Amino acid sequence: MQQSIDKTYAPPITAVIGAGAAGMMAALRGVLNNDKVLLFGGKAKDKKKSRAQWVTKVENMPGFFHYKKGINDPNKETLDFIKQSPFADNLEFKKNLSIEKIEQRKDGRFDLLDDQGNEYLCDHIVMATGVMDVQPEIEGSIKTIFPYSNVQAVDYCIRCDGHHTFEKEVAIIGHGDSAAWVAVLLYERYRPFNITLLTDGKETQFSEELKELLDLYHIDIETRGIDGIKGDTKKGILEGFYFCDGSLIPADFAFVSLGMLVYNKLATDLGANVDERGFVLTNDKGESSVKNFYIAGDLRANTKKQIYTAWDTAVDSMDDINRKTRLHFREYKKKQREKFN
Ligand SMILES: Cc1cc2nc3c(=O)[nH]c(=O)nc-3n(C[C@H](O)[C@H](O)[C@H](O)COP(=O)(O)OP(=O)(O)OC[C@H]3O[C@@H](n4cnc5c(N)ncnc54)[C@H](O)[C@@H]3O)c2cc1C
Repeated sequence: MQQSIDKTYAPPITAVIGAGAAGMMAALRGVLNNDKVLLFGGKAKDKKKSRAQWVTKVENMPGFFHYKKGINDPNKETLDFIKQSPFADNLEFKKNLSIEKIEQRKDGRFDLLDDQGNEYLCDHIVMATGVMDVQPEIEGSIKTIFPYSNVQAVDYCIRCDGHHTFEKEVAIIGHGDSAAWVAVLLYERYRPFNITLLTDGKETQFSEELKELLDLYHIDIETRGIDGIKGDTKKGILEGFYFCDGSLIPADFAFVSLGMLVYNKLATDLGANVDERGFVLTNDKGESSVKNFYIAGDLRANTKKQIYTAWDTAVDSMDDINRKTRLHFREYKKKQREKFN
């Protein structure tokens, strides 16, 4: 017997903030779970500051090699799939809107305010606003390095792009332990022809263990400030980094390891707990210290900062929200039965 559709039932709504890797997966999972999803993609400024925008060719995920933009291209396909699916009505996509404020009501639901002054009421939130890598300032601007990042001659993530250092002259921009670990790992894994750590005028802060390893692997350390970049971005070629006396440290591939900007303000304003680097702490389903406020993707503490991790964290959160939504429906049906019996 087919179940009749209950038109008096108002299903809970989940707002997904951010439509990068985690946000789009959260939207897809929610839609396929037959839940109501309100997805915010962020205004142009948010998109430009997001890692999703900067990801070009993805080589560490099976079957993704053909995408020119490894997050944005499959995300467009996903939206097309949802639009043509029987579940299309489950998704409302606010493509260019940014959430600027969230408040939790006494009943636990959330009021959201976007950058155009529109207000929304929702029952659950999945926040997936991501993080951004800190960029080096060269020739007085962080933009100097972007043309090289765009052609993947400069990268930020060793798990995504470390293999590009094979048989290369490598430079790593950074002065802390994480930069030194990148150098050590790349040496042990790929044995590039040469690795130089460029501290860009900053004092080194390496532990004794790392100092010993850097010495063991003959990793050079250049502490002068970087004055410029040599290369041909049209051809996708990096040749090296200039210093004040005109000398050049050759490099045909570089990594930047200067830490991350963590976009957690909406979460901290709500009172969510964060770790010492600003990543939001959650339980294993991604629920933060604020009830019904979930975090997915790079913003969540203690996760790999990767596309497939962003997806997995989003699925965990949306499935947990679906569990709560089903409980809500179950209670409603029980009450209906009591009412009519
Ligand atoms: C150059 C580069 C290359 C990479 N290559 C790979 C790779 O090959 N393989 C891999 O697995 N990983 C790669 N990564 C890592 C990958 O990009 C991230 O792990 C992934 O994007 C994280 O997904 P996310 O959803 O947390 O954040 P993002 O994908 O960055 O998405 C954040 C979203 O939030 C939105 N947003 C921000 N603020 C707001 C707001 N207030 N309101 C509404 N929306 C907002 C933004 O517009 C954006 O849509 C790479 C990263 C970089 C920087």
